[in-house]
Amino acid sequence: MIYFDHNATTQVDDRVLETMMPFLKMFFGNPSSLYRHGRLVRSAIDSAREQLAALVGVQPTQVIFTSGGTEANNLALTAIKSESKLAISAVEHPSITEPAEHLASLGHELKLIGVDRNGRVTQEAIAEIIRYRPALVSIMLANNETGVIQDVAHYAHQLRDKGIIVHTDAVQALGKIQVHYNHLGVHMMSLSSHKIYGPKGCGALIFEKGVGLKPMLFGGGQEQTLRAGTENVPAIVGFGKAAELAGSELAQRAEHLLKLRKLLEDRLTVIPGMSIFSKEAERSPNTVQFGIEDMDGEMLLMKLDQKGIAVSSGSACASGGGKPSQVLAAMGVAAGLAKSAIRISLGKANTEAEIIEFTNLLETLVTPG
Ligand code: PLP
Repeated sequence: MIYFDHNATTQVDDRVLETMMPFLKMFFGNPSSLYRHGRLVRSAIDSAREQLAALVGVQPTQVIFTSGGTEANNLALTAIKSESKLAISAVEHPSITEPAEHLASLGHELKLIGVDRNGRVTQEAIAEIIRYRPALVSIMLANNETGVIQDVAHYAHQLRDKGIIVHTDAVQALGKIQVHYNHLGVHMMSLSSHKIYGPKGCGALIFEKGVGLKPMLFGGGQEQTLRAGTENVPAIVGFGKAAELAGSELAQRAEHLLKLRKLLEDRLTVIPGMSIFSKEAERSPNTVQFGIEDMDGEMLLMKLDQKGIAVSSGSACASGGGKPSQVLAAMGVAAGLAKSAIRISLGKANTEAEIIEFTNLLETLVTPG
């Protein structure tokens, strides 16, 4: 199989798996237990917290482990004060848009922050949002569909100055570009393990003390009482190791991905009717989303699947729904072209030979006759 869907999920790195294994069998104690077998496991969680904190430049006490990026995003939005307004970018992942819509159904006013035709939040949209006076704003760092990187640091600075709480979903940025919490200047940041060659079902919210987070789960003192429930120890330990590797290998991974992305884009551009979305924007080195005039993205996905190539026709959660991507709609992409969208998201094990095989096949699939 040629796997080109790393924004959906990644394969656990062997070194991560090796680190996790003892915590499934040998060190199975409950980290809350006071005897040695529990304390040992507690200290493994502490080490994982330190590894993740080091990757994004925060204190370990600013890390709340969650069940993934979705939970981290939901938890972040609990910081909204009662009867206050909320604003999110028009290209957020459903794990932000849906809890935001839920808050709107409970009486919070909600506004979308517009993007330009390349999917970038604009300075004008930020100025408008500042006039709107929301209590909390969420702008993602890297988009899961287009790979577009937002200038979060620039906007967070302006919003913070006005007393607005700022959250960023950095799930798709971690491990692909430098993600430094203090440089971004946000109050909260969501991360996920399975996008960086760690196990599924684990993520984290990085937060600033006093931001006003409210627990969604009650019944235990874990994670500073912000996330009750016995910790998923093997996954947390794996996430820590994946974070350490993402830090030490970032430059080398990014260089490899960028080289592959360039080859991919050079070969895509010669295909008739081809549009690469967000081409003029700064993007994650691993992501290319494109559309081909008069093609059906889902149909193309199936044909590629038959040949053993895994791609996405949009975001993993949105695909199969049959609806054109909301991200592309927000960018003003016509519905017909949006329905032809295919997303390629590369990973560290992909090769130039795979790009060549894929583009050769794509060309034969989209050429009439
Ligand atoms: N945020 C973004 C931008 C994502 O792409 C995803 C997953 O696709 C998530 C959040 C959700 O993360 P998780 O799968 O860990 O819940």
